[in-house]
Amino acid sequence: MPKHIPYPIPDGVMASFWSRVQIGGEDECWPWTGSCSSKDGRGFFSYHGNRSAPRIALIISKGPPTDDEYFACHACDNPPCCNPKHLWWGTNQENSQDASVKGRLLFRTHCPNGHELNEANTQVRFERGWRSRNCRICLGIRREAIILKRKLRAAGLDREMTPFEALAQIEHARSVLVARHLAKVALTGLKGISND
Ligand SMILES: [Zn+2]
Ligand SMILES: [Zn+2]
Repeated sequence: MPKHIPYPIPDGVMASFWSRVQIGGEDECWPWTGSCSSKDGRGFFSYHGNRSAPRIALIISKGPPTDDEYFACHACDNPPCCNPKHLWWGTNQENSQDASVKGRLLFRTHCPNGHELNEANTQVRFERGWRSRNCRICLGIRREAIILKRKLRAAGLDREMTPFEALAQIEHARSVLVARHLAKVALTGLKGISND
């Protein structure tokens, strides 16, 4: 249950709070620039046992919740956002119902290369106030391609081969990598893919 927070919040605390919010246009998201949870992307702001930046943004703008059980929910579905216009008080259950409806409407179901973005194959990251969802299969292929490129260069292949030969070599290696990666994914049921 969220902690009860004394109200009103002193001016000094408010000033320190807003100094960590990247305030934009009225309808834009205002990302938290301080530290964020790597788990759910919400900003951290410590005040009387509270740790949630969106909660403080809501208390400042709309007053405390009528029930301490209420959470600061995001209408924009962008956890680092502290724009009071994008926040509303709701129960944990309302919040997750809302999120699952939005999730179906807002999120891509497949990556640009056609891999399904299910829970196991989706890497979620929070960077510079935004949520990014990446395909783990494509991330793996990209990582291996970078290593391959480095190896080709180390072997002097990029200098000795004509550009066409090098390109053919890389294309061939890439198709092998894709096949190998897909086989690996199929074998491990995605459990073996590193968690970064
Ligand atoms: Zn927002
Ligand atoms: Zn993909």
